[in-house]
Amino acid sequence: MEKLKNFINGNWVTSSEPKTSSVINPATQEVLAQVPFGPSTASDLDQAVQCAHAAYLEWRNVPVMQRVQPLYKLKALLEEHHEELSRIITLECGKTIIESRAELQRAIENVETACATPTLIQSEFSENIARGVDEFMIRQALGVCVCIAPFNFPGMIPFWFLPYAIACGNSFIIKPSEKVPLTLMKVFELIQEIGLPDGLVNLVHGGKETVDAMLEHPKVKAVSFVGSTNVARYIYSKGAANGKRVQAQGGAKNPVVVLPDADLEVTSNIIADSVYGCAGQRCLAASNIIVVGDHGGKVKESIYEAAKKKITGFGLDESIEMGPVISKESKSRVEMLIEMGKSEGANLLLDGRGFQVDGYSKGNFIAPTILDGVSSTGNLVKTEIFGPVMSLLAMKDLDEAISFINTNSYGNMACLFTSSGASARKFRNQADAGNIGINIGVAAPMAQFPFSGWNDSFFGDLHGQGRHGIEFFTQTKVVIERWPREWTRKF
Ligand code: NAD
Repeated sequence: MEKLKNFINGNWVTSSEPKTSSVINPATQEVLAQVPFGPSTASDLDQAVQCAHAAYLEWRNVPVMQRVQPLYKLKALLEEHHEELSRIITLECGKTIIESRAELQRAIENVETACATPTLIQSEFSENIARGVDEFMIRQALGVCVCIAPFNFPGMIPFWFLPYAIACGNSFIIKPSEKVPLTLMKVFELIQEIGLPDGLVNLVHGGKETVDAMLEHPKVKAVSFVGSTNVARYIYSKGAANGKRVQAQGGAKNPVVVLPDADLEVTSNIIADSVYGCAGQRCLAASNIIVVGDHGGKVKESIYEAAKKKITGFGLDESIEMGPVISKESKSRVEMLIEMGKSEGANLLLDGRGFQVDGYSKGNFIAPTILDGVSSTGNLVKTEIFGPVMSLLAMKDLDEAISFINTNSYGNMACLFTSSGASARKFRNQADAGNIGINIGVAAPMAQFPFSGWNDSFFGDLHGQGRHGIEFFTQTKVVIERWPREWTRKF
């Protein structure tokens, strides 16, 4: 099977690395491609950085209105190839085709938002800060910026960064996850058509060696990372130690609180969608469901019914609501965590292990699973499962729920279901998380807003998307000017 090529300086080039890693369809175990994976990918990266740096030196002086023109073309091409790209996402990542289409829509919205860079990049001017003296601030590009992407949103996450970076005058290099590189291969075929200068946007495959080369290369100025918390922490500290600007989004363990005044049916369906969407492999997946004052057990029953009816299977089948998890290792890990929950005293209310899908006996399927009575002081409530497993916890009131939430080391998302404005206001004010949902199950910020993880879910200051993207991908320069009349030639 052919080894995937890198895209460097406007050309598809063979990696110098002989070793590869297999790209595997998680529903069938079919090997879809081989991706370069080993130490020599570091030299591929150096080649890309040199070309990207040369491209940046020209591009930074192209007027911003011209810099966004290729993005309009990219938007049109992403729309034209929406279905083809969505199918690739499903084949390599496992999620349902409906989820893949929605993911790509979020990517397109980031391209659209970045088209507003001519306005967003405008800056500040103060006349007469002292008599005859003016002061202003301009935003200039940084240079070569890189992105290290995770497996779970191959078609969306690179777009939290790429369109903003290039619209601001930078060049860009992406390293996709070795598990799902095919979506970006197709995206780069489209990027070839939008009229960007050679070397401005590059794709380099690999794993840790490529990442370390990015973090060590003196010409790399900024690093955007999305992935697990341990790697995010490593990237933030190593990147910062090497003088780079870093934004590193990490893992999560998202709590959802259900108050007794919430609409039962709507709430249960939304929570099931959040927990089981993308087979639980979303950094905004609800995980710890805290039910307040459920004396008759009605909420638990309603959530159980909503979970039980989810249809698990092959993602290209339009009727399917949940696909497989990404790998055999991931499946075993999720099953191990279900056992851990049981050993900490939880009752396995719904067991999705051993689930078989007709015609897909080799798939990494786990059907919806619910652990009830999960210990609020055990290890499971602190561990990101990244699979279709709900933990149910019972608490007496909103204060207890907020205190519990605020002991968690993560802070990606916290949600509340209620019909009380006062409870909602208290929750959004006091819950320690960067993305809050009120009667929302997946509080994913739209492209105009920053993707605001907190605590161990984010390392850095400026997040991805919107204005934060513009600020991250530019450095400010302040100019103070005096032009005395007597120094000026009189006309
Ligand atoms: P991961 O951390 O295993 O890998 C992410 C990227 O880092 C990949 O490109 C991988 O090749 C690279 N990498 C892996 N190990 C490395 C190492 N030791 N040194 C350097 N680079 C390394 O993450 P994943 O499994 O691909 O993605 C799932 C994780 O991402 C989950 O924890 C999820 O919560 C998180 N995530 C977070 C967000 C967010 O916005 N906070 C969004 C999506 C996913």
